[in-house]
Amino acid sequence: MASSEVLTSIPITSLPRISQGKVRDLFSLPDSGKPKLLFVTSDRISAYDVILKNGIPTKGAILTLISAKWFDALSSRVPGLKHHFLHLGPPPSSGLLAPDEEKLLRGRSMTVRRLKVFPIEAIVRGYVTGSAWAEYEKTQTIHGLPQPAGLARCQRLPQPIYTPSTKAELGDKDVNISPDEARKIVGDKYASRIEELALACYKAGAAYAEERGIIIADTKFEFGLDEETDEIYLVDEVLTPDSSRFWSKADYQVGREQDSFDKQVLRNWLTDNGLKGKPDVEMPPEVVEKTKARYTEVFERLTGNSLEEALSKLS
Ligand code: ATP
Ligand code: MG
Repeated sequence: MASSEVLTSIPITSLPRISQGKVRDLFSLPDSGKPKLLFVTSDRISAYDVILKNGIPTKGAILTLISAKWFDALSSRVPGLKHHFLHLGPPPSSGLLAPDEEKLLRGRSMTVRRLKVFPIEAIVRGYVTGSAWAEYEKTQTIHGLPQPAGLARCQRLPQPIYTPSTKAELGDKDVNISPDEARKIVGDKYASRIEELALACYKAGAAYAEERGIIIADTKFEFGLDEETDEIYLVDEVLTPDSSRFWSKADYQVGREQDSFDKQVLRNWLTDNGLKGKPDVEMPPEVVEKTKARYTEVFERLTGNSLEEALSKLS
């Protein structure tokens, strides 16, 4: 069974920690071949750009298992796709971690190739919402790209579009840019392939999720380069509720804002209590439970497996 502890920080000391993001900690793994990382997902949750004080139990495992599922599913659906995922958990029987550390990481970690991450967020949008809707309303463009007239809020776009942003340092805001600006950042040699892969992964993932009652309105991919072979890899987390906007297909209605499939309970509670955007907020147990149930439902719909069973298989 995966550790039932809620981890808002990752107390691992046996491996060198190379970075800490909003949700993940990365540790370097000693290896004789290509460099590898232990990619660890905490139970931290953010809403309105602020991390809550307490976490959501099993969220780290849910996000890890959803990403693992997508690496597998996308490999067979996107021709030529390479990805960083090697296997769940740390390298087996490596003795790198103390037994209690192994237990804490069970389910919430994966071994990945360490790559040079391109400094852009490869966002793909299938629907016009959020910052894209705000821009469209003003100028009929999205990330500077002209769009058809007469789109309504949250309407499905005629075709998914590639709308990159800069990848800001922790604490800073990402800035929406045009594909041409992204080309300048990553270089001509890689720009078109990144766009092509991002669109193909979104299309395959969105079609798959829609069959399971979830609309993926938009999502953010990251890509990395193996500098030795000059090959582009899909990295980071993939098509999770944290990196994407998930809506319920059954509740979707064009012309209005949609509820977030996973975070709406938390968002509503924050807004209703005047806590939106405030630091150090602690969620009450019912908000934690309801949010956990939502993440669990996403997992079960996307994978077709019970979360409990999936977690028990990890022991
Ligand atoms: P957020 O996702 O909330 O915007 P973040 O991306 O800064 O924040 P996390 O998702 O918590 O932070 O951490 C993941 C980090 O690991 C990202 O900076 C990502 O670019 C990096 N990363 C992902 N895959 C790889 C890889 N294969 N090699 C090296 N770095 C990677
Ligand atoms: Mg991230």
